[in-house]
Amino acid sequence: MKIGVLALQGDFREHIQAVKMAGHAGLTVRRPEELAEIDALIIPGGESTTIALLAQSFGLLQPIRERIAAGMPVYGSCAGMILLADRILDGTEDQATFGGIDMTVRRNAFGRQVDSFESNLDFNNSPLRAVFIRAPWVEHLGKAVEVLSEIQGSDGARHPVAVRQGSLFATSFHPELTGDLRVHRYFFDQVCVGAIK
Ligand code: GLN
Repeated sequence: MKIGVLALQGDFREHIQAVKMAGHAGLTVRRPEELAEIDALIIPGGESTTIALLAQSFGLLQPIRERIAAGMPVYGSCAGMILLADRILDGTEDQATFGGIDMTVRRNAFGRQVDSFESNLDFNNSPLRAVFIRAPWVEHLGKAVEVLSEIQGSDGARHPVAVRQGSLFATSFHPELTGDLRVHRYFFDQVCVGAIK
């Protein structure tokens, strides 16, 4: 599989490395011609407002929306989760997303006093150590969205931090920073396989 990583801003290099370690071709995507070459896309963590603005100026916003609508598998991590959400809370005014997952995501949901932390999660029924950096959580979900992991937030409620809707998959956390390939492998083996013709 040719896995593209959106390389406009953020920690795309770590995702390229994870793709290669899992045995797939990892290609950076900055231009529409590069998007056309790939079977699936990873949107890295970084700053969702910046990535959206750069996607717009690099002519990628609409082409990525079209590939999503056509069924291309996409994995969004952290800022990437925000960019796959149909609705955002605490975004900037007019913040654009690619959208595709019927969910409302709250940016910087864990609050400024806990900018980053690690936590033990249950991901898809197995234990996982996860790194959160100014992370979003999912506040509302549509019926078509499956929850693969959740965490207790500062508001006392449990919030999804890994979700899937068909060929779209998103996590609030950063598996590319831990050297544990299981989350990337879930994307390649469970989401991409079957979705890529
Ligand atoms: N808070 C960032 C945003 O709104 C996301 C942080 C991250 O990707 N680590 O885009």
